[in-house]
Amino acid sequence: MNLKYTTTRSDINQVTSSQAILNGLGKDGGLYLPVSIPKLSVEEIGSFSKLTYNNKAIIILSKFLTDFSQDELKSCVNKAYNSKTFSSHKVTPLHILNDKCGVLELYHGPTSAFKDIALQILPYLLTNSASKNEDTRTYVILVATSGDTGKAALEGFKDVPNTKILVFYPIDGVSLIQKLQMVTQLGDNVKVVAVEGNFDDTQNGVKKLFSNEDLNLKLENINHTFSSANSINWGRLVPQIVYYFDSYIQVVNSKKIELGDKVNFTVPTGNFGNILAGYYAKEMGLPINKLICATNSNDVLKEFINTGEYNRNRDFLKTISPSMDILISSNLERLLFLLSNGDKELITNLMLDLKNKGSYKISDEILIKLKDIFYADSATDSDTINTIKEVYKIKNYLMDTHTAVAYTVYEKYLQATKDHTFNIIISTASPYKFNGAVAEAILPNYSDLNDIEQLNAINNKTKNPIPEGLKGLDKKIIYFKDVINKNEMEKTLKDYLNI
Ligand SMILES: *Cc1c(COP(=O)(O)O)cnc(C)c1O
Repeated sequence: MNLKYTTTRSDINQVTSSQAILNGLGKDGGLYLPVSIPKLSVEEIGSFSKLTYNNKAIIILSKFLTDFSQDELKSCVNKAYNSKTFSSHKVTPLHILNDKCGVLELYHGPTSAFKDIALQILPYLLTNSASKNEDTRTYVILVATSGDTGKAALEGFKDVPNTKILVFYPIDGVSLIQKLQMVTQLGDNVKVVAVEGNFDDTQNGVKKLFSNEDLNLKLENINHTFSSANSINWGRLVPQIVYYFDSYIQVVNSKKIELGDKVNFTVPTGNFGNILAGYYAKEMGLPINKLICATNSNDVLKEFINTGEYNRNRDFLKTISPSMDILISSNLERLLFLLSNGDKELITNLMLDLKNKGSYKISDEILIKLKDIFYADSATDSDTINTIKEVYKIKNYLMDTHTAVAYTVYEKYLQATKDHTFNIIISTASPYKFNGAVAEAILPNYSDLNDIEQLNAINNKTKNPIPEGLKGLDKKIIYFKDVINKNEMEKTLKDYLNI
């Protein structure tokens, strides 16, 4: 059976999964999603218990990407998740903390953040989709990054045939470790440039390049086309469904629950991609009780889930969990579509309200459904540091800041509801990636140390190994030193492509 894809906003042509991946965003501005959600029975889920991560991934992807052959999916999955790319043979190992709680570590990929799960496979899904549709163009991936996405996209796309990748980062908007990770990137088809300005300047610049007609024509002339690696692409969302099933099976195999018992997931949330993948898993039949949405002080989503009003008219706060510093969670549009039974007119209007007024409100009917599935709360920076400190002291387990936001919210949830369903906390980054705050939480002399010294000191104290990709970063060759004005982004792109 061929599963078709539609967009959230209008009924123009339905497309295949490979076309949805190639197009990225619908022409109407809506996001692609499948017209129905494949279901799995508890028995089928149980039959995963002896399968590797990769074999589970092939089964789940094949339910959604129905115009890919089994062999194609197998090849994409095995190129993405293997002992060269992931340091854990389980890919996403679950660390059991106690009888009621475990932490799912999604950060054992090449860049030490959870974006690797999707961005290691997206390039293969994209190039495979292109050849399936007899599309011979070279895909130019443009990225504006506040840190994690840029590096994960570079690692994913480096040396992938028929792709080129250009990453812009705001010069003062990323941490030293994140910057070093990017400017030392290897690969023949990669370029990294610093932009004077903040993340918004950089992102606006990239958006302008995407919609610049003259540029698009010039690209067409050399058989190139733009594409994006951000989380609105269905090809980035679908690989994330896999680890919800995989972690559930890990809990069953650990005997903390029996097959069929429900679990909760607590997810540190920014753009709503990760937690939406969890909602898809639930709709497919995975026994999930609550999806707990954890935000930092940029708590638009918390307010939305509690009141039904989405309001981005507020100050943007810089926090110590920067990958969740976000006021517009794009993937929420997909959830609204699902909860309103595909009411495209409604979605179009809500998104117009968001654009014009910066806010929208959903009906009580949809709010009731939303609250039945999700729970939401937030954590401040000082909560976050305290949680890292306490969990390290009491459980000898070290978390990064994003994971600690989730842990804090999980504790608030327990307090508020007394619901002791087994809970899986999703861990999205290695503690070494957000070294400053982690050092502050566990090292008395943290402020005397520079970033590199902090990594070594955290390692000395905790004996947690420093991830391969973050080792010796200060000794690597720097390939990318360009710093440009935000008005020079177009010129940079033209120089890079020789057009
Ligand atoms: C991207 C990111 C998040 C947020 O994930 P969403 O899918 O955008 O909700 C959380 N933590 C880290 C470390 C990230 O890189």
